[in-house]
Amino acid sequence: MVVAGAGPVGMVAALRLAQAGVPVLVLEAGADLAMDSKASTFHIPSLELLDTLGIGDTMHEQGLKAPVFQQRERHGGILAELDLTVLSDVTRFPWRLQLEQNKLTRIILPILESMDNAEIRFNTRVARAEDAGDHALLWIDGQDEPISTEWLLACEGANSMVRQSLGFGFEGVTFPERFLVMSTSFEFRDAISDLAAVAYVNDPDEWIVLLRTPDHWRALMPIPADEPDDVAVSDARIQERLKGLHDPGSDYEILQHSLYNVHQRVASTFSQHRVLLAGDSAHMNNPLGGMGMNSGIHDAWSAVDTILAVRDGADADKASHLYGSVRAETCHQYVQVMTTGNFQDMQQKDREARAARDQMLVGLMSDPVAARDYLLKTSMLTSARESIARVQRELAAL
Ligand SMILES: Cc1cc2nc3c(=O)[nH]c(=O)nc-3n(C[C@H](O)[C@H](O)[C@H](O)COP(=O)(O)OP(=O)(O)OC[C@H]3O[C@@H](n4cnc5c(N)ncnc54)[C@H](O)[C@@H]3O)c2cc1C
Repeated sequence: MVVAGAGPVGMVAALRLAQAGVPVLVLEAGADLAMDSKASTFHIPSLELLDTLGIGDTMHEQGLKAPVFQQRERHGGILAELDLTVLSDVTRFPWRLQLEQNKLTRIILPILESMDNAEIRFNTRVARAEDAGDHALLWIDGQDEPISTEWLLACEGANSMVRQSLGFGFEGVTFPERFLVMSTSFEFRDAISDLAAVAYVNDPDEWIVLLRTPDHWRALMPIPADEPDDVAVSDARIQERLKGLHDPGSDYEILQHSLYNVHQRVASTFSQHRVLLAGDSAHMNNPLGGMGMNSGIHDAWSAVDTILAVRDGADADKASHLYGSVRAETCHQYVQVMTTGNFQDMQQKDREARAARDQMLVGLMSDPVAARDYLLKTSMLTSARESIARVQRELAAL
């Protein structure tokens, strides 16, 4: 079994395969695991799944539990404060875990390295792949001979060479604005005393997401299309942006910043015979709501269920097709819809639509049934459980 890419999605898939006794080879282009800290929110269904792999305790030791999150107005205050502990009756993990994705991969790496049936090769870039019906072939940069594998799980992110060499489309949009992520040692709670660890600060002109991690605060902001990259990441402009939210009277200490292009794109197919796509190689979305990596982990789960079912006798082509169709449907009908809506809501410019959004959010505070429904949706709990269970149920019938 070959997993291309040692990002969070590939590493979760590899660990689960290895724990199930399947020999797994992970090929990673980088010299080491990526240091990117793009994702920092793990939702409930991901915590439930990862706990069954035996890494839940370590993740919780390194992460920060955030049971409460807020929807706020930049020039106003709290619109809604949502408390995930109301879901304690349906989950052992009624919170978001704030933990950077590069910590997850570093929790998994030593476990994989200690297993006899798992191997990870760095500096090994997959250049192209071929669907050979009952197996897959892939070529590594600098090597003439292909590797033949029973299954190829493509987890090499947005620029997936597997997806491209199989000719799958990747339709959608790239937004004209980019997203700037900064981390700072400044304690935002000194300035905004009622701030929750996760806060979506809505604004038609300059919305901002404030996220507390165990080490510092992260701030995520949009950069208008006409602002050059070098200006956006200059210290002067970063200071100006943060001081526009709150001016502490001196400069913010900026620990790290990155500028990202943002996409809403979905692959034309997630599977073809023995090639399965998972994570950003199959779909991308804006980060509002924290669903890209989480849904990629759910892909990885169903992909491994598919591989294991075929080893137990299920028809390979039908199983592969089932994986692709269910995960694509979940992506289109849930992840893409939710994240597109989140982006529209955060920056809503139409006064009436903004008033309706605010009314809905404020209403959640006095309507426990609506609040629970909102939490089940935004935590991905219902959609992920249903999608994973459907794949498992239908695989069992093959
Ligand atoms: C600012 C920002 C914030 C975000 N916040 C969240 C969040 O809170 N929650 C959430 O769920 N999602 C979030 N996301 C999305 C999340 O970061 C991605 O969905 C996630 O990284 C996808 O993981 P992946 O393993 O599929 O791909 P990647 O993380 O891109 O990993 C791919 C791996 O494959 C390797 N690779 C690439 N090409 C090759 C090749 N040809 N051969 C071999 N290896 C290769 C790369 O080096 C890398 O290690 C955020 C994104 C951004 C930009």
